[in-house]
Amino acid sequence: MIFFSILIAIVISFTLYQRRHKQGALTQTILNDKQKMLLAKHIDYYNQLSNTDKLYFEDKIEQFLDDVRIEGVGLEITDTDRLMVASSAVIPIFRFKDWSYRNITNVLLYPDTFDKDFQYEGAEGRNIMGMVGTGYMNGQMLLSRSALVKGFSSQAGDSNTAIHEFVHLLDKADGETDGIPENFLPHEYIEPWVRMMHQEINKIDRGHSDIDPYATTNEAEFFAVASEYFFEKPEQFETKHPELYDMLDRIFGHETAK
Ligand SMILES: [Zn+2]
Repeated sequence: MIFFSILIAIVISFTLYQRRHKQGALTQTILNDKQKMLLAKHIDYYNQLSNTDKLYFEDKIEQFLDDVRIEGVGLEITDTDRLMVASSAVIPIFRFKDWSYRNITNVLLYPDTFDKDFQYEGAEGRNIMGMVGTGYMNGQMLLSRSALVKGFSSQAGDSNTAIHEFVHLLDKADGETDGIPENFLPHEYIEPWVRMMHQEINKIDRGHSDIDPYATTNEAEFFAVASEYFFEKPEQFETKHPELYDMLDRIFGHETAK
């Protein structure tokens, strides 16, 4: 049994090596043992994967770090920061084959919350934890490091700011951030999904749902907030929201997504 596991690991490593080799990237990130230990220390999602899936996860992390620049604004970023950002990106797309974010080039990490003018100093009105840039900020994501770290801590509950922002990017991949990820949802499910979103938003408004009320802002926020819960507390989400769970499972488990 162990022999077969090792054999499978070798075959996968070789396939991944060949694929990466073919891409011919100039710089290639290869995670070292210390970085893999950091993943194991901080990322529950990674810990729950089989050994085979861990290799795929590591490969997707490496790919993300090759494709996207992570920069600190007013802070020195650490390996842990980089791995947490990359994990937040990989978790929503983990089940997709050969899919990568094409709508992001940079992640800017701020020490803490910032305001709508991207200021992170001063006490007034700094309440943004993360955002996907639009207009001249297209291709950029802004994140608060304290929100990023909190999302992967044991106090995170059902929220994770960075996963939330990457779900907005998935949503945006079809051109519109509207809570309907058309590339990942077969056409016939779109109408039921929209109906389901509106029903749950109503329940939240009436105080009959445990989903964070921020989800009632609009459909895009509903999709992002529900997805945080789906990835952070999957069993609880499945028990309390079986229909929403099935739909999100369909969206994020879409193997042929382009
Ligand atoms: Zn949002």
